[in-house]
Amino acid sequence: MKDSNCIFCKIANGEIPSSTIYEDNDFRVILDLGPAAKGHALILPKEHFKDVCELDEAIAAKVLPLGAKIGAAMMKSLGCAGFNLVQNNGTAAGQTVFHFHMHVIPRYEGGPEMVTWTPGKDETLAETAAAIKNAL
Ligand code: 5GP
Ligand code: ZN
Repeated sequence: MKDSNCIFCKIANGEIPSSTIYEDNDFRVILDLGPAAKGHALILPKEHFKDVCELDEAIAAKVLPLGAKIGAAMMKSLGCAGFNLVQNNGTAAGQTVFHFHMHVIPRYEGGPEMVTWTPGKDETLAETAAAIKNAL
């Protein structure tokens, strides 16, 4: 299903032009308009899914292999030393476009730090684990 109000549905299905680096029956992979690093790409399913919780399982199974393929091509072509696969769900997690997408972000030696956090401590680890486990 497509959502007529969704910009990523329009981009994924070619109604709005984009810098496309890969396309098949299920996905279009485009360059991000506001790249975190040169070559930053977005994997867009052609069907509309709000986030990873709504994502069709058959499509989901293809996302990681595609991320690996795109990342490997970036390392060959752009000279990056690694790459991050990043996927945001919900406003609190930084999601701004509510059509599932996976970021593929090239990482260059000496490049800016990103996708980092300061390790904390959870004094109630067992309760936290139980709460999540009970909700599965
Ligand atoms: P999110 O924050 O939802 O995980 O990521 C949305 C990403 O989409 C952002 O990195 C933003 O720069 C990118 N973006 C938003 N609108 C457009 C657009 O119209 N075209 C392209 N190529 N990227 C977009
Ligand atoms: Zn959409």
